Amino acid sequence: MSGETFEFQAEISQLLSLIINTVYSNKEIFLRELISNSSDALDKIRYEALSDPSKLDSAKDLRVDIIPDKENKTLTLRDTGIGMTKADLVNNLGTIARSGTKQFMEALTAGADISMIGQFGVGFYSAYLVADSVTVVSKHNDDEQYIWESSAGGTFSIKTDTEGEQLGRGTKIILHMKDEQTDYLNESKIKEVVKKHSEFISYPIYLHMMKETETEVPDEDAEESKTEEEGDEKKPKVEEVDDDEEENKDKKKTKKVKESKMEEEELNKTKPIWTRNPSDITAEEYGAFYKSLSNDWEDHLAVKHFSVEGQLEFRAILFVPKRAPFDLFETKKTKNNIKLYVRRVFITDDATDLIPEWLSFVKGVVDSEDLPLNLSRETLQQNKIMKVIKKNIVKKTLELFNEIAEDKENFDKFYAAFGKNIKLGVHEDSQNRQALAKLLRYSSTKAGADDMTSLQDYITRMPEHQKNMYYITGESIKAVEKSPFLDALKNKNFEVLFLVDPIDEYAFTQLKEFDGKKLVDITKDFELEETDEEKKTREEEEKEFEPLTKSLKNVLGDKVEKVVVSHKLVGSPCAIRTGQFGWSANMERIMKAQALRDTSMSSYMSSKKTFEISPSSPIIKELRKKVEADGEADRTVKSITTLLYETSLLVSGFTIDEPAAYAERIHKLVSLGLNVDEEVETAEEAGKEDDKPAEAAAGESAMEEVD
Ligand code: ADP
Repeated sequence: MSGETFEFQAEISQLLSLIINTVYSNKEIFLRELISNSSDALDKIRYEALSDPSKLDSAKDLRVDIIPDKENKTLTLRDTGIGMTKADLVNNLGTIARSGTKQFMEALTAGADISMIGQFGVGFYSAYLVADSVTVVSKHNDDEQYIWESSAGGTFSIKTDTEGEQLGRGTKIILHMKDEQTDYLNESKIKEVVKKHSEFISYPIYLHMMKETETEVPDEDAEESKTEEEGDEKKPKVEEVDDDEEENKDKKKTKKVKESKMEEEELNKTKPIWTRNPSDITAEEYGAFYKSLSNDWEDHLAVKHFSVEGQLEFRAILFVPKRAPFDLFETKKTKNNIKLYVRRVFITDDATDLIPEWLSFVKGVVDSEDLPLNLSRETLQQNKIMKVIKKNIVKKTLELFNEIAEDKENFDKFYAAFGKNIKLGVHEDSQNRQALAKLLRYSSTKAGADDMTSLQDYITRMPEHQKNMYYITGESIKAVEKSPFLDALKNKNFEVLFLVDPIDEYAFTQLKEFDGKKLVDITKDFELEETDEEKKTREEEEKEFEPLTKSLKNVLGDKVEKVVVSHKLVGSPCAIRTGQFGWSANMERIMKAQALRDTSMSSYMSSKKTFEISPSSPIIKELRKKVEADGEADRTVKSITTLLYETSLLVSGFTIDEPAAYAERIHKLVSLGLNVDEEVETAEEAGKEDDKPAEAAAGESAMEEVD
């Protein structure tokens, strides 16, 4: 039986020497690759047998066997898969290079890891990570049994195999292990590697092990020396005589002989839980699976086990943990939360495109029937199937969250742990924004500071004439719950949501509306619903106060965009609202707090301030009289206006640029109230504070000294 010799295609030859010569420690992946090939081959015959069951006659059992042989230093992998014809052997294992061959070598030079070999469709050659030479025996239903053999080195040989063990059908790969790789012949090592990389292969993997058993056989030597022994042991034995002993006396002496026997052990007994029917799986089983998946010590909060069928097929189990991990928002860390399988073969836990970042706390598995096994990470990212899977995962997680929301106690836990993620989702996921918004919860003027309302519930409480949904942004509930901005809305019985998480404002800016209703930040300029009568008075008062607004604008100069008469204030004389399109006071605070912020943004985004005055406020009324009497250049008018402006800054959530000057003005007021004569200090201070000489004249208010 003479073999034929073939030359490896040039690139494959190159790849082989690269694999053989690269110093690489993670060699164990060869086993994953070969088992994965077996699993593919089994998939293929299983698929063919669907239309022609007789194809399985050549070997009914679909399985993988791993047979280590320490004596001969070989590791054999055998499967009852589809097998390879002679042409297959020639083409697939040596003469036809896949495009992946070159790509893989390029990737390696660019720093890729050898463990990615399978993703380039050249996994078979990883056998040479551990073997000097490889023998492939294969039997396809349509051909004879052949032996392929190569020690790399540029060539391989193929010959028919009539004498060797007949496979019936399938492939046997015999690895002649390198001397330093014999660790892979150890039972424990094989078990470890299979468990790590191939636990969820859907065909049984059997490990063949030499088990030494001790059996008792007649001991001829003992028989011969019987008298001698008996003579020696006579005395002690007498004392022990019992029935057994009596019987034994008549029996022949035996001795224990060690015998080696092959035993098989199934390594992947745990059938992938996601392939089972959800109604057969207990809560404990899900819990155990979740823990093995997540390394969490606690059970999950909620689970969703589903399959998608139709154009695309996959199964998945998704878990929501009870707690947020401490590093939830550490962006640089790679998240290994969703494991991607393709037809039970583990592909990656680093498929960044399987789930959006805002859902990075969801853990689970996805097992696709459609994805090709040889996906590289790059192609994964552009893969259409992946996109559809991702869409479905998001949809299902939303369902899961809504299920959690049915139980308030659970939902509170969930929201406390992952509310920020939901808000991030509202900000980032335009498609699911409205659905996600239903999960948002806020304290409000009606829900109170300690309870929270959903946006839907808010709507049920809206008076008929309320068109928009209102919210206020700020640093804390305490900072916003008594804001002067709330007064007018409270008067109208309009509820206002308290948005005090920095991310809230980002989310609401994207959300824009909910259930067809505009979301309005009341710290910004907005149109409050008004009756015809209210409109009339407003217009009249606007006209009436126009001279005052002009004067105040002149006093405040560039500090404000404009000064307006406002009916949105009730208890306060004035406030500062920002323009609709710039930053709110809250956003300005957030941006200022960001160490690495881009300062170029500040110039055009920073809040355009509108100074609003309330025509019904006694202070404003008095101020108006004073301006009319003394003119806007009057020092008292200037001082009072500046003080009102600065106080409004604080109340509206801004910071004061020159706190010391502000404090000084307040101290003057205090002195005035206490009738303290601060003339000496003020003269000094005033001189320091601005370039104008202090000209405190008798009869003028002390307020005038500070402007
Ligand atoms: P991939 O499996 O990604 O296609 P490999 O280099 O691992 O690339 O294998 C090359 C080809 O050899 C496979 O596509 C398959 O046709 C064939 N092959 C490898 N192993 C087996 C096997 N155990 N049974 C049948 N065919 C196999």
